[in-house]
Amino acid sequence: MTDRQIECWLTDMDGVLVHEGQAIPGASEFIATLRDAGRPFLVLTNNSIFTARDLAARLSRSGIEVPEEAIWTSALATATFLADQVPNGSAYAIGEAGLTTALHAAGYTLTETDPDYVVLGETRTYSFEAITKAIRLIKGGARFIATNPDTTGPSTEGPLPATGAVAAMITAATGRSPYYVGKPNPMMFRSALNRIDAHSETTAMIGDRMDTDVVAGIEAGLETFLVLTGSTAPEEVDHHPFRPSHVVDSIADLIPRV
Ligand SMILES: [Mg+2]
Repeated sequence: MTDRQIECWLTDMDGVLVHEGQAIPGASEFIATLRDAGRPFLVLTNNSIFTARDLAARLSRSGIEVPEEAIWTSALATATFLADQVPNGSAYAIGEAGLTTALHAAGYTLTETDPDYVVLGETRTYSFEAITKAIRLIKGGARFIATNPDTTGPSTEGPLPATGAVAAMITAATGRSPYYVGKPNPMMFRSALNRIDAHSETTAMIGDRMDTDVVAGIEAGLETFLVLTGSTAPEEVDHHPFRPSHVVDSIADLIPRV
């Protein structure tokens, strides 16, 4: 594939910049190089628990300095999508500050009474009562949206059920499937491009997963870089019916490309 002139960068967070709270070697230098060069960039995550400010603070503790304006979560993408679809609407939200703050900032009202949408995000403690309420509201006509389809999330004790798994339970009870805004929906990348006034032809996406980052990057028309510091082993790349533009060992290899 021909190398395009890259003006803007989108990068996944977990498995690319950090791994279990530790910076991946080269990540801090890569972000510093982008900032020094004045390149528009966004750090993307399907995690909807935290606000951009929380995530900026967590990255800073790992030694990676990313301004909060340069972080784009599935919660922010979801709130932006909803504000565009139904401006100043209402939602019953299951989620944490990352989601509720984003909805409020997008002009939404949070309510348990006749909302336009039920919005499901990530929490560490899913409440059966809240899930029951969501099911009844969807049965009553509320539209069903979820931040991201991931069925499990990581923890030090083992996998945790995540948004996609809870959505499956709500779907079983209502017969309604949610519209997922986060990766692998290329909507997540399209809204990120709009956020930094970037164009797909001159933007690259860096990720560690073939089935989310790379496929969504291809569908959004971006140059794609797969790094091998996360969840994809080199031999797995060929098992997929699509391929990234480039495979590199780690984000450190991309510093000279900025
Ligand atoms: Mg990742």
